[in-house]
Amino acid sequence: MTSPLTNLVDFNQADVGPSCIYGPVKSWRLGWSLGVDLLLNSSICSFNCVYCQLGDIQVKTAERKIYVPTEKVERDLRLSDWEKADVVTVSGNGEPTLGANLGEVLQLVKDYTGKPSMVLTNATLLNDPTVRADLNHADHVACKIDAATDTVLQRINRPVAGITMESILSGIKKLRSSYSGKLSLQCMFMPTNREDVDALCAMMGDLDVDEIQLNTPKRPYPMKWLVENRGNHGDPITESRILSTISEDEATHIEQLVNDATHGRIPIISIYR
Ligand code: SF4
Repeated sequence: MTSPLTNLVDFNQADVGPSCIYGPVKSWRLGWSLGVDLLLNSSICSFNCVYCQLGDIQVKTAERKIYVPTEKVERDLRLSDWEKADVVTVSGNGEPTLGANLGEVLQLVKDYTGKPSMVLTNATLLNDPTVRADLNHADHVACKIDAATDTVLQRINRPVAGITMESILSGIKKLRSSYSGKLSLQCMFMPTNREDVDALCAMMGDLDVDEIQLNTPKRPYPMKWLVENRGNHGDPITESRILSTISEDEATHIEQLVNDATHGRIPIISIYR
């Protein structure tokens, strides 16, 4: 593939909208993380999680397309503080695998910064071979999994039509069989999915991943979308409401369940530690 860097951008052109690069922001999991937002102009996702830091998702879709041209990513990257970052994370205003230029952007990031790259995905599009091929350009992929049953999936993640636990698990397994980078699971625990905890922990034992991240929603839920909330690790800038979390004791219990299910062979990191 020809690197987009060979087509240098004319920096004298007028600026077009907000930057698709944000941060670096401090992340409890990653250190200083530079964000890449391939959605940008609204929140766009195949899920509408009840705890989403973007608030109610505006565009609910599983359609892949180019939302932010690679040329804009390149220009905004050059103008950013990328040198201060430990890692470049493709996340932003929704589900990054919806960006049809994801693979090209990951290659651009690697060529330009030399920094490790990570993609945070909700794992809903992993049955698409073009998505898996794009993710092969990333050093680390973290897949969200918050439910074990379709009932709880509908309650906590509220996916677009056609997405089931079976399709999500099949996609993660396909990715694992073709992807040689680091693969993590990210699990959000809150009272909404408490009834699935035992089954979810058991399920993790069947997925051949390199790390499991246990989380609970500590950021309030914004009542309206603002582009700035994508990389905001404090309170939202808009009116928001506090979400129900799990206690430290419950988190410790869940960590023990995961450890038992995985026979202690997979490193676990928890927001409470
Ligand atoms: S998958 Fe991520 S971006 Fe999409 S609704 Fe859930 S938390 Fe928000």
